[in-house]
Amino acid sequence: MAPFRLLIVGGVAGGASCAARARRLSEEAEIVIFERGDFVSFANCGLPYHVGGVIAREEELLVASPQLFRERLRIEVRLGTEAVAIDRARQLLRVREVATGRESEERYDALVLSPGAQPIRPDWPGIDLPGIFALRTIPDARRIRGWIEERRARAALIVGGGYIGLEMAENLLRRGLDVTVVEREAQVLPHFDPEMAAPLAETLAAHGVRLRLSETVLGFEPDPSGGIRARLSSGASASADLVLLCIGVRPETELARAAGLEIGERGGIRVDARMRTSSPRIWAVGDAVEVKDVVTGRYGPVPLAGPANRQGRIAADVIFGRESSFRGAQGTAVVGVFEATAACTGPSEKALRRAGLWGEEGPFEKIILHPGHHAAYYPGAEPIALKLIFRRDNGRIVSAQAVGRAGVEKRIDVIAMAIQKEGTVFDLEEAELCYAPQFGAARDPVNVAGMIAANVLRGDARIAHWENLEGFPGLLLDVRTEEEVGRGRVPGAVHIPLDRLRERLKELPRDREIWAYCYVGQRSYLASRLLSQKGFRCRNLSGGYRTYLHRGGRVAS
Ligand code: FAD
Repeated sequence: MAPFRLLIVGGVAGGASCAARARRLSEEAEIVIFERGDFVSFANCGLPYHVGGVIAREEELLVASPQLFRERLRIEVRLGTEAVAIDRARQLLRVREVATGRESEERYDALVLSPGAQPIRPDWPGIDLPGIFALRTIPDARRIRGWIEERRARAALIVGGGYIGLEMAENLLRRGLDVTVVEREAQVLPHFDPEMAAPLAETLAAHGVRLRLSETVLGFEPDPSGGIRARLSSGASASADLVLLCIGVRPETELARAAGLEIGERGGIRVDARMRTSSPRIWAVGDAVEVKDVVTGRYGPVPLAGPANRQGRIAADVIFGRESSFRGAQGTAVVGVFEATAACTGPSEKALRRAGLWGEEGPFEKIILHPGHHAAYYPGAEPIALKLIFRRDNGRIVSAQAVGRAGVEKRIDVIAMAIQKEGTVFDLEEAELCYAPQFGAARDPVNVAGMIAANVLRGDARIAHWENLEGFPGLLLDVRTEEEVGRGRVPGAVHIPLDRLRERLKELPRDREIWAYCYVGQRSYLASRLLSQKGFRCRNLSGGYRTYLHRGGRVAS
């Protein structure tokens, strides 16, 4: 009898992990990977750092070679071979050798599609001019490096301020280029809320990256100086020797569409939790598929390496009879830009608002805090801006975002796991996390976030949010020190330092609500507790003056 034949389209994150897992489950199966490109199992996440020279040699990006697949795993890798059609009725995959155009048909018992995604390339005028690149593959990185070296490029224009755009900004600056980032939204990192992305924009600007926010490109034309000139929506133009398009990716679904597989509303291949497509014997994984968001329950692509790897493994499990299933995605991600790190898990407030799920009396509440990444008494503590979104009714954690210089991703990873296990803010309060002075605090930022949120839900701390300040009829109270206020304050705020508050209660109104703030929200929490116990109606402005600044609030001197 012919051996069970597993064919895999795409040999990088999802495809390679599926193949390797499949071999661990079956010694008998025949496993073949078809990869259109010249590399299998390479680290696309490392590409920006290769362009920047941090990863010096291209070979370091190669996680596994065809030889290793063959000798260690008895998996056949056919490089330079594109899958062009699926005959579902006859269980045949038609493949074409890219170099020769020669086609053949391959029988399958199970077919896994992991073709990834394509960088978006809008049909702007001049988009095909030489010097305009996207970064997805090793040959792309080669072309970009070659262009920089041959042309002695001095200025780069990056279109898109998302993860890859910002990583490339850092890496091109590292290579000595003058870097401008054009971003359509009014902030960098559009996946984040604006007040959380603001510190990263400050870091970029401090390193000399020019940010052109709320602008987009209308088209390109050759620059008389020999480079490329981009026409921008503001009417201005920007010239560069090199343009990088980092405006997102589109699931690669041509093969699946032509085979009649179900495609979701957001353009990815529709799969169930066991990574099965609408056709029996065909599975799909990675950037090409739509998966269920664990929080919103909605389907959409989540183009990240972690989910792609796990999905590849799950598809192999299911094909070989195991009870595996994908729990859903929450978009847990991290980006490092110079000395700053930003990380998130679950939907941002912005995304929830866009989905119509956020309202003033809606199901969600948020807090922002700025704890140190380790104990304050140990030298070198760096603040982390941490935002936690949770449900008002049961305290379930919905999402978190954090930005800072150290310890950022560790906190988001802990919260990501709590979300996956349907944890609550009360669980974060109680989480037992490791502590020594150089690593954390006896009350870790994750614990503190849980405590603040739990205080809100228990009614011990009433909070207010900066976006509701306009038109607020009550009294705005600044409880910071004289010296801090001297550096700037919110217009219209009354200043009474926390340490003087008890003796100056007579100055405060009893017929109007008081919103208190300090620099990060901790002293104003004490103030609001004090005032509430003295019979005042008081709320604490979450995130404090620091968050106010990150929201771009006006400053009175
Ligand atoms: P891919 O890894 O893209 O593999 C798909 C492969 O399929 C490609 O090699 C393609 O050539 C091949 N293929 C497509 N169609 C066919 C066909 N018809 N026949 C044969 N072969 C075909 N994610 C993170 O989580 N963290 C990061 O830091 C991060 N950084 C990134 C940086 C860059 C520059 C890029 C480009 C991506 C980054 N990602 C990151 C995203 C991550 O790399 C992807 O989510 C992941 O690789 C998706 O895996 P995949 O198997 O779905 O697709």
